[in-house]
Amino acid sequence: MQILSLLSVKRVINLHSAISELTCLFFLPCAILLSLMGKAVFLDRDGTIIQDRHYLRDVNEVAFEDRVVPALHMLVAAGFKLIIVTNQSGIGRGIISVSEYEAVEAHLTQRLLANEVPLAATYYCPNHPKEGQGEYKQECGFRKPKPGMIFKGLEQFQLDPAQCYMVGDKLIDIAAGQGAKLKKNILVRTGYGAEQSKKNSEIVPDAIAEDLYDAVVNHILD
Ligand SMILES: [Mg+2]
Repeated sequence: MQILSLLSVKRVINLHSAISELTCLFFLPCAILLSLMGKAVFLDRDGTIIQDRHYLRDVNEVAFEDRVVPALHMLVAAGFKLIIVTNQSGIGRGIISVSEYEAVEAHLTQRLLANEVPLAATYYCPNHPKEGQGEYKQECGFRKPKPGMIFKGLEQFQLDPAQCYMVGDKLIDIAAGQGAKLKKNILVRTGYGAEQSKKNSEIVPDAIAEDLYDAVVNHILD
């Protein structure tokens, strides 16, 4: 009996170590792979980084919201990629041209770079499901509140959504981030944020911040 039970114990120990080895073989590479995946902050543009001018087409009207540059510096220093995701239905509605939009995008990218803030990417969606003209009239997976632009960034830069954040001044920004299952989706009270924060909506931000700086200090790097 004693020999038999010793053998059983040995078998259990062998089985246990085999399971441990298998676990290491399978889960360890997964854990390493996940830790190698990058992190990013997805940022709305108008009302979050720059003042919302309503269909901005003139580079001279690009003006940063308060404390944006130091906030973005901190994110870069902490190893976050910065990706702008912006709805630009003004293009689809025929209010601004693609080249006017691109001039503003290039100007903003340069201004940030001159302040030592490199952007990893800017994605924009020109479509609108009702007001778009011609090819721009479409229900599109990239237009926020849909998460298409965020999915594109996650894929392009091999990012781990559980380490990524979304910051925006509208509930559609929050919905897009939540649709992509990001770690935290923060509404800022700049731009339309103050008014949006009072809305009785199914979309509930993970946090509400005064501005981008507050979001970074108190909800991202906290
Ligand atoms: Mg906005």
